[in-house]
Amino acid sequence: MQKNKTIVVLGGGISGIVAARELRRHLGLSHRVLLIDRQPVFSFFPSFLWVMIGWRLPEVIQKSLSLLEKHGIEFRQAVVEEIIFEKKQVRTNREIIDYDYLVIAMGAEMFTERVPGLADASFTFYTIAGAVEIYNNIKQNSGSRIAIVYRGCHIHARLLHTRLRFSLTHFVNGEGSKIAK
Ligand SMILES: Cc1cc2nc3c(=O)[nH]c(=O)nc-3n(C[C@H](O)[C@H](O)[C@H](O)COP(=O)(O)OP(=O)(O)OC[C@H]3O[C@@H](n4cnc5c(N)ncnc54)[C@H](O)[C@@H]3O)c2cc1C
Repeated sequence: MQKNKTIVVLGGGISGIVAARELRRHLGLSHRVLLIDRQPVFSFFPSFLWVMIGWRLPEVIQKSLSLLEKHGIEFRQAVVEEIIFEKKQVRTNREIIDYDYLVIAMGAEMFTERVPGLADASFTFYTIAGAVEIYNNIKQNSGSRIAIVYRGCHIHARLLHTRLRFSLTHFVNGEGSKIAK
């Protein structure tokens, strides 16, 4: 690669962070590596299951993305609004950033609206706020019936369901709550 290129990584989840760290490790310091995420922190998703039953506090499973700076990776907290491929630019809610190379690692989003009524009638453990909400609810409503809703028979959904059941069973054990599939 020629000198002084800017590589922009969109998304500061596990994929974006690993990509940025690897790029930084392999490229000379004359190249810029810049990561953009709308959140100021990285959250470790697998531990949401422990937040949900009170085994972890949210702050323990989150790390500030600005810590990347000490590894030579620039961090911008901003919402990516558009990628203008023909101009090699990313437009965020704050600025327009030029890039030479782009890594897109913005993950996937839950779309509960696809199932009418689901968003209003359920809690999600796909966000840290949702995991905290579940914890507060099952703590306050011991003896209640818990229904787990998941879609499809993809291996990921099945594995997650098994772990979810395991966590909840441990938590509600002895409190008289029942888990329904
Ligand atoms: C409860 C739970 C448990 C899990 N357990 C496991 C496990 O044990 N093992 C395993 O392998 N996987 C597990 N997974 C799946 C794993 O967490 C995901 O596969 C992984 O997080 C995907 O990483 P990613 O970086 O691709 O996407 P994400 O983690 O979704 O990161 C995407 C990032 O992009 C940012 N972003 C998105 N859109 C924009 C935008 N427009 N502007 C700016 N920033 C944006 C987001 O803020 C986010 O930080 C689990 C998931 C959950 C929910």
